[in-house]
Amino acid sequence: MDFSLTDDQRLIRDTVRQFMDAEVRPTIRSRDREEKFASAELRKLGELGCCGMLIPESQGGAGADTISYVLMLEEVARVDAAMAVALSVTNSLAAFPLIKYGTQPQQQKYLSRLAHGEILGAFCLTEPQAGSDAAAIATSATRHGTTYRLNGTKSWVTSGGEAGLYIVFARTDSGAGTRGTSAFLVEPAFPGFRVARYEDKMGLRTSRSAEITFTDCEVPEGNRLGDEGQGLRIALELLDGGRVGIAAQAVGIAQGALDASVAYAKQRQAFGKTIGEFQAIQWMLADMQTEIEAARALVHHAAWLRDTSRDQNAQRVGPIASRAKLYAGEMVNRVVYKAVQIHGSQGYSRESDVERMYRDARVITIYEGTSEIQRLIIARDLLRHSSEASARAPRDQAATHKVQG
Ligand SMILES: Cc1cc2nc3c(=O)[nH]c(=O)nc-3n(C[C@H](O)[C@H](O)[C@H](O)COP(=O)(O)OP(=O)(O)OC[C@H]3O[C@@H](n4cnc5c(N)ncnc54)[C@H](O)[C@@H]3O)c2cc1C
Repeated sequence: MDFSLTDDQRLIRDTVRQFMDAEVRPTIRSRDREEKFASAELRKLGELGCCGMLIPESQGGAGADTISYVLMLEEVARVDAAMAVALSVTNSLAAFPLIKYGTQPQQQKYLSRLAHGEILGAFCLTEPQAGSDAAAIATSATRHGTTYRLNGTKSWVTSGGEAGLYIVFARTDSGAGTRGTSAFLVEPAFPGFRVARYEDKMGLRTSRSAEITFTDCEVPEGNRLGDEGQGLRIALELLDGGRVGIAAQAVGIAQGALDASVAYAKQRQAFGKTIGEFQAIQWMLADMQTEIEAARALVHHAAWLRDTSRDQNAQRVGPIASRAKLYAGEMVNRVVYKAVQIHGSQGYSRESDVERMYRDARVITIYEGTSEIQRLIIARDLLRHSSEASARAPRDQAATHKVQG
């Protein structure tokens, strides 16, 4: 087992780290206060290849592996968690489905623009009455000749109003249950597309979360992604990959909070010593670092598995991505709590970075599947595989456990 990074992976990590420190860190506090979307910064990261990391080079992307992708997201989130979620959605939930399910004309039209950061991607699954229960979506798509007309409301759309391409899930057959949903590639200029409002959020203040309405929104038949009825399957598969990115975002925020805490512990004085000399502070720092490393290992394992099992064993990635997302999401909330504690009153001030990180981290246990939903996925997989295993001979049981890692 080799945990070391390749030269390419190290180069990507270090390049993004330098960019974030030089170009984003100096303005992050003021942008957070002004709720200013990082358009220019994201465009520059797009020029560096960060918007199309999983897109093959032949289609204008970086052609990187998933480990490089999570390293990039971690470095971005370490400084600015809101930029990380925009990049995660563009890479995992917009560009990746185009590679996997897009027709050649669809790929030609959108992939290279996404890869170069000319446009961002957005993912429209959630509706006001359907979050965890994705099968309950009500947005409809009815066919009229060679176009579909979409009607309904999507909520909490990350980068809504900023993105140039929206992957929208809608019902094409209301009587077909989970097989009645289809996916569509929607441009904001299509008639009937409207950004109705933006959410006023606790954290990720520089990320846009929009409610979008579709009123007889006309989508050409050629913009359906995949087959009719395949939409929910596509959405759930994408979320498996998306969760690896969100788990990396959690590791990045936690690492940023630890870096700030170590620096503060070395300079803040109390009772004639630096607070880093108190065992109480040392124990918090030690726990933070240990938990971050554990989460990073889960994220890298899920990323590695995603690359090695893209074709044969894709269904195994889901629960492993869920474990990474569950642990990293819960971990980052423990870490930012301690980071604020170490900073004392300074940590409660909007002048500190850890105050923003504390607010930004809270959403990780909620979006792209809550912690409760991750536990459901993990437990269902565990019970299914353990019952399959117990019905087999002992030799086969050993093989099953090996696959589970
Ligand atoms: C900042 C932000 C950005 C987002 N970006 C996007 C985006 O780009 N695109 C998009 O489509 N969506 C997006 N979302 C929506 C997000 O994915 C949903 O909020 C999430 O799936 C949870 O749905 P919900 O909020 O409706 O909660 P609900 O589903 O109403 O859940 C409420 C509570 O009930 C629990 N619960 C629900 N069902 C079960 C169950 N079966 N067993 C146990 N507990 C259960 C949940 O875990 C939760 O604690 C975003 C959300 C936020 C906050």
